Amino acid sequence: MIITLVIVLGLVIGSFLNVCIYRLQKNESISKPRSHCPNCKHQLKVWENIPVISYLLLRGKCSNCNIRISLIYPLVEILTALVFSIIYYFFGISIETLLLIIFFSIIIIITFIDIDVQLIPNNLLIISILPIIAFILINQSHSHLNHINGAVLLALLFLIIGYIGKLIYKVDSMGMGDVKYAGVIGLLLGWEKGILAFVIAFFSATAIIVIMSMYKKLSRKQRIPFGPFLSIGCFVAFFWGADILNWYLGFYR
Ligand SMILES: [Zn+2]
Repeated sequence: MIITLVIVLGLVIGSFLNVCIYRLQKNESISKPRSHCPNCKHQLKVWENIPVISYLLLRGKCSNCNIRISLIYPLVEILTALVFSIIYYFFGISIETLLLIIFFSIIIIITFIDIDVQLIPNNLLIISILPIIAFILINQSHSHLNHINGAVLLALLFLIIGYIGKLIYKVDSMGMGDVKYAGVIGLLLGWEKGILAFVIAFFSATAIIVIMSMYKKLSRKQRIPFGPFLSIGCFVAFFWGADILNWYLGFYR
């Protein structure tokens, strides 16, 4: 019963995250005007604003001008519901769940803005630190120093990789946004899970680049945002990092 509520909450908040993703990258206000079609400005009626269901009813098109609505919108809503369900599965009804819902909602906004415009807004990074600090204070599974080490280590790692990338390719392969984002993730995870998140991010990025080049969807100059892979690494390492590290370190005992 509660899981149904969590899923509905995820879909509704996912719908709001879509608004944030779309408007924050254009520096528009989140609260007004009401949701409208970006093409013809047709204001969405209530039935056109229901997460996922409206997309299916409208068959992915604006009811007024028939322009295609991006599949990203329902995907973000489903993804948010999935993320909320996993948080609830691990933490039940608790303050931790509330803080993680806030944190991972911000992560979803960061991820899709980075995909759209290859930029990670500073103010989102700053806001994301608040739920992390509250979570660390409540859920003391690591020492506070471990979290600070994680933040410094991950930011440094990205700074060094960016520097090496610049030496080899003569372009800024890693933006400062990625460095700061890595620091935020390291703060949440602590250094052990932070390194794991980093490894997951690099392997998933490499896999995607190989797949995209196989299908020739990638030109040499195209820049692939690294933020989304960091987000995946952060999510996996946060919930399953302890299991993965135990399994991996088990080989050396
Ligand atoms: Zn329209």
